[in-house]
Amino acid sequence: MKTIDLRSDTVTHPTQEMRKAMFEAEVGDDVYGEDPTVNRLESIAADKMGKEDSLFTTSGTQSNLIAVLTHTVHGDEIILGNSSHIFLNEVGGAAALGGVVMHTIQNDRSGHLDLNDIERVVRRDNIHYPKTTLLCIENTHNQCGGTILDQVYTNKVCELTHILGIKVHLDGARIFNAATALGIPTQLLTENVDSVSFCLSKGLSAPVGSMLCGSKEFIKKARKIRKMLGGGMRQAGIIAAAGIVALEIMVERLVEDHKKAKRLAQGLERIRGINSDSDNLPTNIVMFSLETGLSPSKFMDYLWEEGIRIGSRGGNLFRAVTHREISSSDIDEVLAHFETICRKL
Ligand SMILES: *Cc1c(COP(=O)(O)O)cnc(C)c1O
Repeated sequence: MKTIDLRSDTVTHPTQEMRKAMFEAEVGDDVYGEDPTVNRLESIAADKMGKEDSLFTTSGTQSNLIAVLTHTVHGDEIILGNSSHIFLNEVGGAAALGGVVMHTIQNDRSGHLDLNDIERVVRRDNIHYPKTTLLCIENTHNQCGGTILDQVYTNKVCELTHILGIKVHLDGARIFNAATALGIPTQLLTENVDSVSFCLSKGLSAPVGSMLCGSKEFIKKARKIRKMLGGGMRQAGIIAAAGIVALEIMVERLVEDHKKAKRLAQGLERIRGINSDSDNLPTNIVMFSLETGLSPSKFMDYLWEEGIRIGSRGGNLFRAVTHREISSSDIDEVLAHFETICRKL
């Protein structure tokens, strides 16, 4: 049976161009810095983020962990949103392996942190306190529904944080979705952050990998920490080749994913029993709730039987993420099934 998988944009398969590039990739031992394809990917990624250098890592989770470990020492405190991916979905690695205290502050509905909250929780010098050394922000914000931090806000956060003597790491797993939606070069969203990570394996369709970008000095240190975490990869050019294709040709098409998300959200809005807000749909993550009285797990079961996969966000809240392998007719098909299910009730 055909499945329409809207759980995440991570389900995208590598394209034919990627497979060809992987097959033909020139490789070497990257632990010696001798893989030309990895080196090329790292140089392209750094350029795209407006940073001096970058590092190819196994995943977004690894990139973020390396960033935290590079910016901090054991016992430091980091500030981050209570809905952030680093806090919620990275196995507590920052605490377990980095030995840092995760001090969360409220993310508002659109993934922003209040500047007053940041200022309030930064630790003063006091014998009782850990030292605050890092703030993490997220763009687009996953849990909040693919919401965007714009350039003005990001710069304000960086300015405040830097005045307070703290570094800023941007978890930009979907930073290209943010830049695409804003219609601006990605560099404008990363200009003042000290480090930024982004995923190659989500909407950009590469099979594996993520990039961590920052200054030359930062990346030098980060490279050693990646090695410590077991992330030193040898002929990694095989997978880096797909990453190059992702950056060179897959960014432009993200706008399609946003259009399809809009089509989905608008369709959902017209179905009685489903609540969605297409006017406030920032990127490719459609959040919606079910108001029919049908139990969320029953609803998911119905959809599963029809070959439709969506994500559960707890209670009667769900998410559907559009990506390259979802066509407009898939969206229409999904909407038709939703309508049938809701009509039956
Ligand atoms: C997906 C994601 C990550 C982690 O990426 P993985 O490659 O799945 O480890 C980190 N941060 C955000 C915001 C994400 O959406």
